[in-house]
Amino acid sequence: MRFVLLGWLILSGIIVADEKPPQPAVRKPIPDRLVVLTFDDSSKSHFTVARPLLKEYGFGATFFITEGFDFKENKRDYMTWDEIRQLHEEGFEIGNHTRDHLGITDKTVDRLAEQLEGIASQCKANGIPSPTTFAWPGNASTPAAFAILQQHGIQFARRGGAPEYPYEEGRGFAFEPGSDHPLLLPSAGDARPKWAIQDLIRTAEQARDGRIAILQFHGVPDTAHDWVSSSQQNFEAYLKYLHLEKYKVIALKDLQEYVDPQIVPEDPNAIIDARKTKLKN
Ligand SMILES: [Zn+2]
Repeated sequence: MRFVLLGWLILSGIIVADEKPPQPAVRKPIPDRLVVLTFDDSSKSHFTVARPLLKEYGFGATFFITEGFDFKENKRDYMTWDEIRQLHEEGFEIGNHTRDHLGITDKTVDRLAEQLEGIASQCKANGIPSPTTFAWPGNASTPAAFAILQQHGIQFARRGGAPEYPYEEGRGFAFEPGSDHPLLLPSAGDARPKWAIQDLIRTAEQARDGRIAILQFHGVPDTAHDWVSSSQQNFEAYLKYLHLEKYKVIALKDLQEYVDPQIVPEDPNAIIDARKTKLKN
């Protein structure tokens, strides 16, 4: 009788069973060692250096394309659209990073639609599907952009490691489905020139217990932005490590296999505040 009563109380929600709460955002169990590789700013070396290495290991990746900086004239430091199209044809994801590399704030959000369309129309002209992922340029973001991103078919958007960590540190937290807003996914690590294999390991090892580590890279090397450059030698070591340690390496859009982008937390800042508090203590 006692057990029947207990069962009834649990079923009725009067007693909450001592288990993890259900995570409706998760579509299927997230394996440990699941990492997402992302590359920002249309760097030439994405095509010449990163691409062949990623293909060697069979890794997925997202390339966030912008025509900002001097992309149009400077084909020594930036990819051509022919090269971007080839990345797509070889199975890599092309994501949207705004036409002009415009930081999106409450002041600039009214320009977001044209910024998204600037890249989407170039994709269309090159036979590339309209991007479904976005990377916030610079170190800006605003919830005022969420509806516009969704109207343009964006399902997941990646930010940096800030505000939990200062931008300068290049550190971050892994994505926690259900807690992180799908349009504010944190970078678990943002590779910098000073990074060594230990930094990559610390970043990747966060990918466990239902969390996914999203890694952010710029050029390999970044010939136009030396403060975010990764050397080819280091990058080769990072990929080799992920391969030897049997990480599953995917593009950002591949998250939809595991995570429902429609399920959003009530307060997107709650998880960010919780992490900040954790870092203080
Ligand atoms: Zn950028």
